[in-house]
Amino acid sequence: MSFAEILGQEPAIKLLKNSLERGKVAHAYLFYGIEGIGKEKTARALARALNCLSPLADAPGRKGVEACGGECRSCLKMESGTHPDLIVIKPSGAFIRIEQIRSLQRQLIYKPLEGRYRIIIITNADLLNKESANCLLKTLEEPPDASIIILMATDINELLPTIVSRCQAVPFRPLSPEVISEYLCSYGDNRFPPAQAALLASLSGGSLGRAVRLADSPLMEMRRDVCIQLISLSRQDMQGLLLLAEDLAGRKEELPEIIAMLSTCLRDLLFLRQGLDERHLINKDLREVLFEGARRWTEKEIIHGLELLHSAEQAVTRNYNRQLILENLFLQLAH
Ligand SMILES: [Zn+2]
Repeated sequence: MSFAEILGQEPAIKLLKNSLERGKVAHAYLFYGIEGIGKEKTARALARALNCLSPLADAPGRKGVEACGGECRSCLKMESGTHPDLIVIKPSGAFIRIEQIRSLQRQLIYKPLEGRYRIIIITNADLLNKESANCLLKTLEEPPDASIIILMATDINELLPTIVSRCQAVPFRPLSPEVISEYLCSYGDNRFPPAQAALLASLSGGSLGRAVRLADSPLMEMRRDVCIQLISLSRQDMQGLLLLAEDLAGRKEELPEIIAMLSTCLRDLLFLRQGLDERHLINKDLREVLFEGARRWTEKEIIHGLELLHSAEQAVTRNYNRQLILENLFLQLAH
């Protein structure tokens, strides 16, 4: 993985390359932004660039800031995951536990084994529990020589402010629909026609990871039906309403994603009610259903519907009675 392969994160990459060029790499970085936009890939590219034995320069006469691309011993080991100076810490269960941080601290007593730097990537740093965060703080306060710690987080507000203040924060932005769509058109033997790639891109909320997951998920097949049913839910059809609740309640893992998709439909209805250009619709393939729905739903009902969906999304992720939540939701949304 090199910087050149990372899509749509030019400001972050430029900042890192400048630090490499000037030889002023921070002891600790905090890469933050939604999931699926290249934070871990960038961290790995930085790890490679830092230890590459013959890094490539961006322009003639400048210092090397990009890894050689698998030519040198260090890059080959990074690629195969066998470099002893690249440590990746991921949550063990729901959290990153204090034992993981203590074990890291024992390793940091020693100098890097092979490379110029030891790079520690902590994914999901927002899942450090209180004890492990406080333990890590000690390392950040007295950073060991030749070690670079890269924390990754989706929500910077979940981190201790004292941790944030000891890292150089690097924001990662959501990707544009164009970048995601272009990638999907060439993803996996070019299997996405442009219209489907554009739909996935607009449903993804700017996350390439999410777009790829959706592309491979049976949800895309269901999406159309479920969205049409939501928009045309009728109080006269109690049977249909309860059946829909029962069907969706059985899809525990996918439910938060389904509810997020339903929210995009209501968002589209709101757009149409406000007379905005239909080019900005997310669910372009449901254009006719949406126009029809926009005649039946008032703005107030749509906004209330979005609030109900938001509460339902939180409730189902907390594992409350899913069928009951959905029945209540649909009863309130029906017209
Ligand atoms: Zn190299």
